[in-house]
Amino acid sequence: MKSHDNNLITLRDVGMTYDGREVLRHVSAAVRHGDFVAITGPNGGGKTTLLRIVLGLLRPTSGSVDYCGGCTPAIGYLPQKNSVDSHFPITVSEVVATGLLGRSTGSKCSDAARVEEYLELVDMAAYASRPIGRLSGGQLQRTLLARALVSRPSLIVMDEPLSYLDKHFEARLYDILEGLRNRATILLVSHEMNTIDQMATHHWIVDKTLHQCTSTRHWVDGCDHKHD
Ligand code: ADP
Repeated sequence: MKSHDNNLITLRDVGMTYDGREVLRHVSAAVRHGDFVAITGPNGGGKTTLLRIVLGLLRPTSGSVDYCGGCTPAIGYLPQKNSVDSHFPITVSEVVATGLLGRSTGSKCSDAARVEEYLELVDMAAYASRPIGRLSGGQLQRTLLARALVSRPSLIVMDEPLSYLDKHFEARLYDILEGLRNRATILLVSHEMNTIDQMATHHWIVDKTLHQCTSTRHWVDGCDHKHD
């Protein structure tokens, strides 16, 4: 696969094996600055594993992941809610503030203002001092969303962001994504594709291998399995 200068991420022949069991095979793809990649596929197909490899949290068994310029960009990560220990004694605003660790806006005061701004964005300002163990699933999901976005990262990686959200906030999330897609690169895993499908520039189906669809029209009726 050719490497393009404007590729933010280049995956080359990535493979992943857990305990001798292959979960990803020959995954090659490129993500360019400003792309919005919608990722779907069956449970256990390797979507989360692929995201964690892209994030540098997992090292692939084979192949490579390269970032433009050789260094990882600022990434905002929304993990699956069930990967977070909600018994940890930390409040909503403290969780959101961890999104600024190493990425301070310059002063404590402006960091606090930024946290407040993102709590408001996700309708969680009223719960700022509540311990996360006393939140509903949707409230925790919104808190994690604010943490992922608070540093205004150039790359946003979301794993099932719609989980636990009610219809009202689902609509808000689509508005938020709409606002982000002009200024960030987005990788988003979801089972619910109706609206996201319209916003995405690229579609990946991950089922051990990666199938890339070039247009929503090919979404159901077979992808063209294009690798560039
Ligand atoms: P998806 O996100 O598409 O549901 P995952 O990437 O979470 O898929 O998982 C892919 C496969 O790898 C599954 O069969 C899962 O059980 C397995 N798996 C994921 N993480 C681990 C791990 N840390 N150790 C062993 N197997 C794992």
